[in-house]
Amino acid sequence: MTDNAPLPQGSVIGILGGGQLGRMLALAAARLGMKTHIYCPDPDSPAFDVTPRKTVAAYEDEAALAQFAAAVDVITYEFENVPAATAQFLAARKPLHPGARPLAVSQDRLAEKDFLTQAGVGVATYRPVHDLVGLHTALAEIGLPAVLKTTRMGYDGKGQRTLRQADEAETAFAELSPKPLVLEAFVPFTKEISVVVARNAAGAVKAYEPAENLHVNHILKTSTVPAAIAPETALLAVAAAETIVTALDYVGVLGVEFFVLPEGAQHPLLVNEIAPRVHNSGHWTEAVCVTDQFEQHIRAICSWPLGDTTRLADVAMDNLIGDEIAALPESLGTGIRPQLYGKAEARPGRKMGHINRVGPAIARN
Ligand code: AMP
Repeated sequence: MTDNAPLPQGSVIGILGGGQLGRMLALAAARLGMKTHIYCPDPDSPAFDVTPRKTVAAYEDEAALAQFAAAVDVITYEFENVPAATAQFLAARKPLHPGARPLAVSQDRLAEKDFLTQAGVGVATYRPVHDLVGLHTALAEIGLPAVLKTTRMGYDGKGQRTLRQADEAETAFAELSPKPLVLEAFVPFTKEISVVVARNAAGAVKAYEPAENLHVNHILKTSTVPAAIAPETALLAVAAAETIVTALDYVGVLGVEFFVLPEGAQHPLLVNEIAPRVHNSGHWTEAVCVTDQFEQHIRAICSWPLGDTTRLADVAMDNLIGDEIAALPESLGTGIRPQLYGKAEARPGRKMGHINRVGPAIARN
């Protein structure tokens, strides 16, 4: 079978990670007649409720990984921090989509910014920081305010400090080091948007419209579509996302987060980061698109033709975080489509589910 031959129905898709993204991928795979085998160290993973096959083992357990690889036809993942050795081990046994390169690029903010710059996609001015002297040099070049970030394992605002005054540098450096760091210019953005894009092995590319994202306490709260941005900005964002998947020779769905700059800025858009997986800011697609991002990912990794990304209604997706889940089901009114993740414990900050508010006139937050 060539790389581009479509996998037949009944094939087994291996998914690393058993969170809500794995759960929604498994549901989409079932709809296409595929079986899923989910691999996750946590026995209480939400995705285990909806998959016919599972492995509970550590990502470093080579015996379990080898058995898993032998039992599946293609492998994907729902989180970008898959250890490089795990990815390599699995990719030597079965097709791994997206591959090792998108993982390596997205796991390291410096590698990510270098890649994006080379691909001709704008990012905030940045400098690697190895020590305190290097931080002062970088600050002199970039100016204030600036954001100091760990290059690895940062998410939802973790592992970063905004520097507004020069005397904050030492404390921020002490808090974040000895991890490798990067300093980036503070972006005076007016909005944050994202584009979810897919590419299959034959090189077909399809993007969804940009979503406008609102974060609360560094966690995504709402994605609204259409985004209130100029049509040219939307086109630029989609073009940048398409450039990225093509440059990475990517297979699967990828999320690209952008800052929208004020009118008159040198660049109308800068990329904040990319995620080599289905994306929280793409959950709106399940309620209003002909093909949602989860089905699109399954199609892409199975070498099926990509689906139609047309949007059929306006939509706003609200994440239900922690206790917010308690208001359901009473608050499920007209036009609301829920997706609950089946997590037992509503800890603060934990994503418990989301709702899509669908309709011709969605209240903007
Ligand atoms: P990140 O962990 O890089 O996704 O950043 C989390 C959030 O911090 C972003 O969604 C922005 O709201 C904010 N942020 C990150 N980097 C910058 C920057 N260079 N300038 C301004 N805000 C930023």
